[in-house]
Amino acid sequence: MSWDKTYKKEICPCGKGALVQEVREDDWNRVEFGNPYIECEECKTKYKIIERHFFQPPWKGDGICYYLVPIDLVDDAVYENKYTNIDEYKLAQEDFSKCLKCVYSLNVLNEALSELKKISNCSSAKGFAREIIKLRKRYLHSCRLKELTQEIIKAINTYDEGPNFELIRAEDERNSEKRAAFWEKVKAVGREIF
Ligand SMILES: [Zn+2]
Repeated sequence: MSWDKTYKKEICPCGKGALVQEVREDDWNRVEFGNPYIECEECKTKYKIIERHFFQPPWKGDGICYYLVPIDLVDDAVYENKYTNIDEYKLAQEDFSKCLKCVYSLNVLNEALSELKKISNCSSAKGFAREIIKLRKRYLHSCRLKELTQEIIKAINTYDEGPNFELIRAEDERNSEKRAAFWEKVKAVGREIF
């Protein structure tokens, strides 16, 4: 099997060199793109190329956009969620109510609690109650109705203490807003290439 190499080129900002990307194509028309680079001594000192990744199906391309930006542009939207290190499994071992708070919203816990009050054993649970029972069995390999009811009540009563689902989600949203603002800045000071 052999790869045919070609190069995509664009003129660099100063006009004396180029922005280059290697394109490899094999006998079955599969295409691979290399990382673009700046082939100009002058522009290399003023610009850099950054990548933006998209989630998209493979047949729509590799899901990467490239931007040429000033070399001193700093990515100030580095993902910092203070709750990223939460280990649900570990929390569940420690205290299942703590795990419940991180996985479910307060509304869901309340709804599950009222569902549990209507039933006499775990196997007849429906809706969120059933989901929570599945989670407990996965992490702790057992689930008794009385015990679980106590844990959900504890989770509801102490919801505002320590990490919980609402705080984690708010942090995620704050981060994606920061990320979106950064890409706006990139488009304003740089340009998309290739
Ligand atoms: Zn140049």
